[in-house]
Amino acid sequence: MTQDKDLILLIEDEPQMRRFLRVVLQGHGYRVIEAATGQEGLTQTATRNPDIVLLDLGLPDLDGLEVTQRLREWSEVPIIVISAREQEQDKIMALDAGADDYLTKPFGAGELLARIRVALRHRAMQRSGNKESVFIIDDLKVDMAKRQVFLSEKEVHLTPIEYKLLTVLIKNAGKVITHSQLLREVWGAIYAHQTQYLRVYMAQLRHKLEADPARPRFLINEPGVGYRLKLDVGEEGATE
Ligand code: CA
Repeated sequence: MTQDKDLILLIEDEPQMRRFLRVVLQGHGYRVIEAATGQEGLTQTATRNPDIVLLDLGLPDLDGLEVTQRLREWSEVPIIVISAREQEQDKIMALDAGADDYLTKPFGAGELLARIRVALRHRAMQRSGNKESVFIIDDLKVDMAKRQVFLSEKEVHLTPIEYKLLTVLIKNAGKVITHSQLLREVWGAIYAHQTQYLRVYMAQLRHKLEADPARPRFLINEPGVGYRLKLDVGEEGATE
């Protein structure tokens, strides 16, 4: 998926972390630019127009949440947040503010590269104005125009809420969507904290769409954060 050298902006204040990221990314053919502060990161995004931003949450000037909010005022660039364990709540706020995905330190190179590929693919789908009415991953097929869902060619009947939930996940395929984002979109803003609704309906969806609901292939739980519809079934941890 790496088309001619995508440009990645690292917004990270720790030189060792920047070095690790730079070595990995350049080693896989990406071009890399760096910013050590949030302010510099905002400036670089505006002037260099990166294809993707890797954003550390703990920065010396602006925090990562503020950087995300400011970027989202004018930019659609995919943002992958890099957080330390103690920044769990900030991570969720950054996702709610429009970040696409997250990695918790420490993480491996394979995981980083996989997340970057998914974010770039998601961006490419959005740019091509992906208005295709049929969505297919593996043996799951969703015909949005006809509102029909098929699993291995057999039609699956979903309730209106299950279907809405699935379409919100499809619209954001590959991205992490937080519990509150899903609740707002499917049930409405006043239900933003009713995470038990999600647990119930996600269990139902998995039961209908996953061969083994206990080990889901595409309806992935992101513990404490939200859910993700996985784009690359069976490609877990693959490093191309
Ligand atoms: Ca930091």
